[in-house]
Amino acid sequence: MLFDAIRNGTNYKKYVNGAWQATQTTIPILSPIDGAELGGMPAMTRTEVDDAIASCVAAQKPWARKSLYERGDILLQGAQLLRANAPEIADLLTREIAKDHKSCLLEVTRTADLIQATVEQGKALVGEVVQGGVLDADTRHKTALVTRVPYGVVLAVSPFNYPINLAASKIAPALLMGNSVAFKPSTQGSLSALHLVRCLEQGGLPAGVLCTITGEGSVVGPHMMAHPDIALINFTGSTGVGQKIAKGSGMIPLVMELGGKDPAIILPDADLARAVPHIIGGAFGYAGQRCTAIKRVIAVGDTADRLVPLLQQAMADIPVGNPFDDPLVTPLISKKAADYVQSLIDDARAKGADVYTTGKRQGNLLYPTLCDHVTEDMALAHEEPFGPVLPVLRVSDTAEAVALANRSEYGLQASVFGRDVDVLLDVAEQLDAGTINLNGKTERGPDNFPFLGTKNSGIGVQGIRYALEASSQLKSIVIHRG
Ligand code: NAP
Repeated sequence: MLFDAIRNGTNYKKYVNGAWQATQTTIPILSPIDGAELGGMPAMTRTEVDDAIASCVAAQKPWARKSLYERGDILLQGAQLLRANAPEIADLLTREIAKDHKSCLLEVTRTADLIQATVEQGKALVGEVVQGGVLDADTRHKTALVTRVPYGVVLAVSPFNYPINLAASKIAPALLMGNSVAFKPSTQGSLSALHLVRCLEQGGLPAGVLCTITGEGSVVGPHMMAHPDIALINFTGSTGVGQKIAKGSGMIPLVMELGGKDPAIILPDADLARAVPHIIGGAFGYAGQRCTAIKRVIAVGDTADRLVPLLQQAMADIPVGNPFDDPLVTPLISKKAADYVQSLIDDARAKGADVYTTGKRQGNLLYPTLCDHVTEDMALAHEEPFGPVLPVLRVSDTAEAVALANRSEYGLQASVFGRDVDVLLDVAEQLDAGTINLNGKTERGPDNFPFLGTKNSGIGVQGIRYALEASSQLKSIVIHRG
């Protein structure tokens, strides 16, 4: 019932200026599981994008004039609706992005928690008073009142793999801090994302404070990112698209969560019984379609001789199949994605890697594959596959492992497995990545941790408090006494 308003038959509507409106053209959204058509997504024109952003502009200042508590209460109502409708949304999410159903349900409830924690954390944000006379005694008569103010209209762009969580993690802090938001979801995942918007809208958002922009990113993207009324872009997606946005957006602040090639470094003294389940879950969860998936193992010394047989054994038990059965490996998001992963495996095999797999493939569903003796001339050593394939690279010592890990355009996360705390900390210090996990898999969260990438893995920091800070700017009012 709640969601009847967001579609007309099977076609979904755009949400602009406080109203759900039908559009001329729609893009069919098919399920990666079986190709079933799930609905039509509005393919908005440039004029429609302009209208959406104009309504965000008109709504922003009155919204910012409300108290943070008022804005927070509205977001909390939205979170409540999200929680209440989690089963229905998770069901659609499972069909739309082929992630296992249990994880989809968790994504929705975790997002309601994230919104709640964002509001609580936002209430704790306070300004500060900075006193003059510190560097120069003659400035003692000056006092700065430093506060946080919104940017204006934030463009939030999210990827396909977490359509609810990675949308809300941008929208909630931006709205709480007094911005309005033009939200562009990934086309695959957009139906689920519109359900999030409906929950937030029903929570009581004033017209225009949140609008949707839908349509193929390559079509609407160049226009929306260069729009003069966009004051901040918060983007999660591939490094390639992130680079296009950086080039096309002009001189506005950017927050970007991009691709990764997270290594798991296995030191000679690592507890392999502990490491193996982390590597399996880290590499193959949601078929490897996570920015923080373990995307390469770097094994030091003779570790690989002991590790590879254990990984092979564990891989035999990985559940594969229909997302509604909650397996680890599910169909990839598209045939194109599956073909790409297959091409990386074929290239590694042709160049001499030992490939362990059942070799089975059903449409987009690729079975988990381990490639040993991978070398840097193989694309699999450095490309982000976003699929269920794990390369093992062998190095002779720890220094070589660190050098190889850092020889990447990416720097999202890394894992290091070993027993000697001094060595673990030493390696962590040398790794060029946003987060280093010691004796645990690479992963995002919990949502209050800082989340960031170095090099081509990102710009700025996410994570509840950090996202609130990133969604607002400092403003200093200086009082001159006497
Ligand atoms: P993507 O292809 O880069 O798409 C991300 C978003 O950008 C989508 O909404 C997409 O819309 C839009 N887009 C596409 N072309 C655009 C353009 N020219 N201008 C503006 N927007 C454009 O990424 P994806 O395949 O959805 O997600 C997978 C990638 O995201 C991986 O590289 C992964 O590592 C990364 N990721 C990173 C994080 C992180 O936190 N670091 C988290 C999750 C995912 P359409 O869908 O309409 O094309």
